[in-house]
Parts: sequence; structure tokens; C-alpha cells
Amino acid sequence: MGGGTNKPVLFVDGKRLDGRDIDELRPIKIKASVLHRANGSCYLEWGENKIMAAVFGPRECIPRHRVDPYSAVINCRYRMSPFASLDEHSKAGPSRRSTELSKVIREVFENVVIGSKYPKTAIDISMEVLQADGGTRCAAITAASIALADAGIPMKDLVCAVAVGKIDGKLAIDFSKIEDNYGNADIPIAVSSRNKEILLLQMDGLMTKDEMSQAMDMAINASDKIHALQVEALKEVYTRKAQDKPDEQVS
Ligand code: ADP
Repeated sequence: MGGGTNKPVLFVDGKRLDGRDIDELRPIKIKASVLHRANGSCYLEWGENKIMAAVFGPRECIPRHRVDPYSAVINCRYRMSPFASLDEHSKAGPSRRSTELSKVIREVFENVVIGSKYPKTAIDISMEVLQADGGTRCAAITAASIALADAGIPMKDLVCAVAVGKIDGKLAIDFSKIEDNYGNADIPIAVSSRNKEILLLQMDGLMTKDEMSQAMDMAINASDKIHALQVEALKEVYTRKAQDKPDEQVS
């Protein structure tokens, strides 16, 4: 954020480098139920980001000392593949960043999954970033929410996430990596789709109070668009499964 002495131009003729307006999301494609071994899954492309999310559970909680007698334990693993990004990052293995992101994403889902329905169990959520171009935590949260719904895990709401912030002094939404690196402020936000409860809010950079409130409005507007795509992706699973197994539909 704000880094580098050779800062590139981020706006050309009033448009962002990829031709977007300030409040325009990158194209998002969501496909639910793509992995047959997982209880729920989702493949999501968001601009150049490619994310696979998978959910297992509710299943036995191991190690046993982590068992919660009143609720399911949520485990989250966000991982960046070694080939996800440029050479500068291409080191395999866990990092401080992925440990932090796994933790904050776990906290998002602890607040929406109705864990009390499955006491003494564990629900495991894995998010693999196959390709990264800024905003992977938001894309991973959006995908994981679909994977949980696909697994039939009861939740208070779906979760949508998007980054908002400031680039070249202008408020904007959904930063690509270059905007993330050279912008003035980046705020990833996750909200529950219907109630718009804030489930994650991180901030890198500086904004005024007014800018912050406008940015929040932009994020809430965008969350409605993302939510519509999530619902569409979940409905498509039923259409696909009905077409795959026409005989089982009878009765
Ligand atoms: P986010 O992806 O949520 O925006 P960051 O702001 O930490 O998270 O990173 C911005 C972008 O920088 C990422 O989307 C990715 O393109 C790149 N990046 C950061 N850290 C890594 C990493 N460890 N491996 C690969 N790419 C990374």
C-alpha cells in the first residue's frame, strides 16, 4: 500500500488501468459443488484471482482436547499456492500472512455458522489461492461461504466480501494487485448478505471519517451484487444435479 518510488499511473482518462469505473467490480464467476470428495466446495474466479474452497464436516473433532461440548469447532486454512503470484512471493509453505488470514477468516465464519447444531464436532474450511491478483482474502471468504452452503452447514446468512479504499486520492472498490500495492488505502470488508453485519474489517493506509463512511456504502452496494451471484451459483447446482441424474428426480 502506497509503496514504491516508481509509482505507476492508476487512472487513465478517468478509468482505472483495467478500464473499470471506481465502483465497478472485476468480473466474478462462481461454480459451486465442484469437488466430489468434499462435503461442499466452490471454485471462484474474480478478475485474475482463482480460488478453490472446500468444506468437510461436521466431522469428528481431532485432537480431542479441542472438542467444544456446546458447538462445532471451525477450522480454517487459507493457503497461497507457490505458483499463485510472481516470483517475489513464490515460496511454498505457511507464512505469517496465511496464518493471520486463516485466523481472521475463521472468526468470520464463527459468527455465521450455527455451530450449536453440531456440538463436539469440527467443520474444516480450506481455501486454496491458485492464482492471485489482489483481494484474495475477500475472494476466499466469498467462495468459502458458498462451499459451506453447498455442504448444507446451517448459517445465519451468506457472507460476501470485497475491498474498498482509495487510489490516487479517489475512493474505489475491488483493487487489483497493482492498485493494492500503489493505492493510498485498502480496506477488505466482509458482511453478512442480508443484515449487513460487519464480520471482517481490516485497514491498510489512511482515510478520513467521511471517506470511510462513503467507502462502507460502496462495499455494502457491492455486497448485494456479489450476493446475487452467490445465490445464482447455488441454484445452478440443483439444475446441474437434476440434469445429471434425471431418473432420481422421479417421485
Ligand atoms: P489480498 O490478496 O487479500 O489483497 P494482500 O493485500 O496481502 O492480500 O496481498 C495483495 C496481493 O499481493 C495478493 O492478492 C497477491 O496478488 C499478492 N501477494 C501477497 N502476498 C502473497 C504471497 N505470500 N504469495 C503470493 N502472492 C502474494
